Amino acid sequence: MLREELEKRELESLALFALKSGQSRGRRYPEPKHPYRTEFQRDRDRIVHSTAFRRLQYKTQVFLNDEGDHYRTRLTHTMEVAIIARSIARALRLNEDITEAMALAHDLGHTPFGHAGEDELNKLLENKGGFEHNRQCIRVVDILEKRYPEFPGLNLTYELREGILKHHSDKKHPDIPLDLQTAAGPSIECQVVNIADEIAYNCHDIDDGLASDILSEKQLYQISVCRRQLEAIQKEFPNSDSHMKRHIMVRRLINEFVSDLVNQTFEIINAESSSDYDPAGGVDPVLLAFSDSVQNENRDLKQFLFTNLYRHPKMVRAADQARQIISGLYHEFRSNPEKMPFSFRERLGVEPDHLVAADYIAGMTDRFAIAEYEKNNKG
Ligand code: MG
Repeated sequence: MLREELEKRELESLALFALKSGQSRGRRYPEPKHPYRTEFQRDRDRIVHSTAFRRLQYKTQVFLNDEGDHYRTRLTHTMEVAIIARSIARALRLNEDITEAMALAHDLGHTPFGHAGEDELNKLLENKGGFEHNRQCIRVVDILEKRYPEFPGLNLTYELREGILKHHSDKKHPDIPLDLQTAAGPSIECQVVNIADEIAYNCHDIDDGLASDILSEKQLYQISVCRRQLEAIQKEFPNSDSHMKRHIMVRRLINEFVSDLVNQTFEIINAESSSDYDPAGGVDPVLLAFSDSVQNENRDLKQFLFTNLYRHPKMVRAADQARQIISGLYHEFRSNPEKMPFSFRERLGVEPDHLVAADYIAGMTDRFAIAEYEKNNKG
């Protein structure tokens, strides 16, 4: 099917407030369009072919990358977010291609060692504008990926770049490109990815938390949404072992959150008057929402994970080590910039050295960061 036909199909079949690839505001550097892929399909493909995407495989989500082969990595997390987001987008007649592209890109700017890594880098750059992974993701796709002789970065559509930045609170930050500083967003597809991210990590952190024995099934009875599932599972499958029960529960949790979101959002969308919708003005955030009861359960689940998993002594210890590595590397590259590869060193005259060091460190995988750190601290 030709691109023009695909664009026509989008116009005919997608919801009024969905993004349409034929109406994209385009790329920073104009390029001829592809004969049979839409602009958003092309965006998605560029993300998957990027180097930053492949590095996600060796970056920590929550459990350090070398702790076990079955825990989520940032790559498998990203893939879970993408499939959940696509299911929601398809059910709501939103643009699946741009939703998938946003999901696949959403963590490209993440540092090694998960939150602890981001936190530490932010602290180190405190007086220099700070560090934040969504903003860094824009730097990755606009500047740091080098794959085309004609332009820097991946030259993605405005809609994807705006979706990557999300609802950034400080759009006037000097690191945010000018064209995104006035973005109205977030698009409804961006909102879908945000919620899919949350559903994915809440559910898979419960799963990995149980697998690691940091969380226990008994503890989960404290939260109503898990208690409800566990009691039902116990009745239906009394002879199942704890592994099987865990799998059933996680599957049902995802389904419950997604179904509630889709049903609730349908109601809100149908109640909205579509006549005063302005596609250039972004979408009212209340369009995408859980019901009140599931919203409360979601909040309780997050709180539970924060207290019992993310703040668990084992995790805190790992986070402390991660901070030490990030801070050690930062100081090392600030005082000895010649230790960075040429592609970073060559930018030193043009950009401040703290930014170049942060770009280099943020792009590292866990194992590369550890190896670099050990090299510098030998003997
Ligand atoms: Mg994420």
